[in-house]
Amino acid sequence: MLGGARATEEVWPGYRVSTASYVMSLLQPRILRELELAKFGFEVLPTDHLFVPFPDGRYLVFWDDLKKTCAEIAKFSKKDAETYPLFDSFLHDAAKLVRELLWMTPPNPTSSRLADVKGSLVLLFKLRKLGAKFFRFADLMTESISDFLDRYFESEELKAVLAYYGSIGTFAGPRTPGTAYVLLHHLMGEHEGAGGWGFIRGGMGAISLAIARSAARYGPTIRSGAEVGRITTKEGRVSGVVLPSGEEISARIIVSNADPKPTFLGLLDERELPSDFVEQVRSYKTYSTASRSTWLSKRSLDTTPSTLRRSTPYPTYIHIGPSIDYMERAYDDAKYGRPSSRPFISAVLPTFVDPDLAPKGKHILNLFGGHAPYTLKGSTWDEERDRLADTVIETLSEYAPNLEASVLHRQVLAPRISRESSPSPMGASSTESSRSISFSSYGRPRVMPITGARSRGSTSAAHRHTPGAG
Ligand SMILES: Cc1cc2nc3c(=O)[nH]c(=O)nc-3n(C[C@H](O)[C@H](O)[C@H](O)COP(=O)(O)OP(=O)(O)OC[C@H]3O[C@@H](n4cnc5c(N)ncnc54)[C@H](O)[C@@H]3O)c2cc1C
Repeated sequence: MLGGARATEEVWPGYRVSTASYVMSLLQPRILRELELAKFGFEVLPTDHLFVPFPDGRYLVFWDDLKKTCAEIAKFSKKDAETYPLFDSFLHDAAKLVRELLWMTPPNPTSSRLADVKGSLVLLFKLRKLGAKFFRFADLMTESISDFLDRYFESEELKAVLAYYGSIGTFAGPRTPGTAYVLLHHLMGEHEGAGGWGFIRGGMGAISLAIARSAARYGPTIRSGAEVGRITTKEGRVSGVVLPSGEEISARIIVSNADPKPTFLGLLDERELPSDFVEQVRSYKTYSTASRSTWLSKRSLDTTPSTLRRSTPYPTYIHIGPSIDYMERAYDDAKYGRPSSRPFISAVLPTFVDPDLAPKGKHILNLFGGHAPYTLKGSTWDEERDRLADTVIETLSEYAPNLEASVLHRQVLAPRISRESSPSPMGASSTESSRSISFSSYGRPRVMPITGARSRGSTSAAHRHTPGAG
């Protein structure tokens, strides 16, 4: 099977489930264009709303349409509804700048090499163009999402909706410094849909298949099920790979899509690499914090407010995370090595926009959320997995009381188990490393320490020229 964490599997007959990654956001338009993915079956199905219910029965809907979103915000605070367009426009400017930076090789500001000096000047010039917004940009790159939002808004509900994006996929709470940038990271998608997110027709695996079909046009051979055991080197440059069967394949250039840690600390012999580089990779943070469950529901959620039901066929994208305190407490549990006793949850129903993923009249409900620390204290994932899944359903049932009765099958992927059952780096958090300013800018590795090696692993995806979103 192709696709790593971006694959769609028929988990139960007739149900095609995107097992890990479930919505598309950061696949860069430039990659879509250059690989001509649309010609090879890639199609985005926009979902233009995000529905966030609160325990008191009120709710907030974020639409692609700014005016409609502001009307929703006005239900909670008129002042915030007036401020929101400014905040939105600032985030768009910041996202534009960071997108440009992602395509740059980060300059080393301490080097006197011409390329680094030139790169540093280009970077400075880009920052200078922000004008007075530079100072707010610096806050965005360093502050906690909670502090950052306090600068703009008064409504606790609005702040909770936005702070959710600062918590998801990262081992941090909304009061942890650095999480404001995580919000930006999640809003950097450039596609239609809530916050730039969208479904892919046929599931996320359709992206991998389209890439494979596009590649086939240029003649490469794709071999699946061929684990690389070792990367060999000769006279300071890579020379090939060895499979566990002993088969050797020689190559002048090796691009590894495994994440950087196994690539540099496992597949390559550390002794071939400069010790400071090895140290840098070793200290690269890849905590895990997310759990992922897929439920099959024969009915849909029952608590949709009737006004929303009138304006959209059904909410496809729901967040449960009613306050900053709630999400901070979810992190408090994880910080001490326990799954969150009240997790925050993204509930996503792709079958409302892509009904062919399930038999007629049935739905797939993907649940992703936090926190589920990779390493538990005093317990194991074998013991905790089903308990966590029950907690997730219990939590969601507070908003959709008939949910439990409508579940036909369920698949639960907790971090440690998912990492063991799949070679893709599901144990790694999708945005953890981006929470440090150094990794978002000058601190990304720039030069490969060994000739011919290229690392394109998904845990570094946000910081390298890779298609992934993690
Ligand atoms: C649980 C989870 C949920 C996510 N949700 C989303 C989401 O909703 N939206 C989104 O945009 N992104 C999401 N992501 C991130 C997204 O899945 C990744 O950015 C994307 O999969 C990166 O693609 P990739 O091809 O670079 O790496 P991967 O998908 O990780 O693929 C790496 C491949 O390398 C293979 N490999 C590893 N080691 C070896 C070896 N030694 N020999 C041979 N092959 C090897 C693996 O088997 C795998 O097939 C999620 C990630 C996870 C883990």
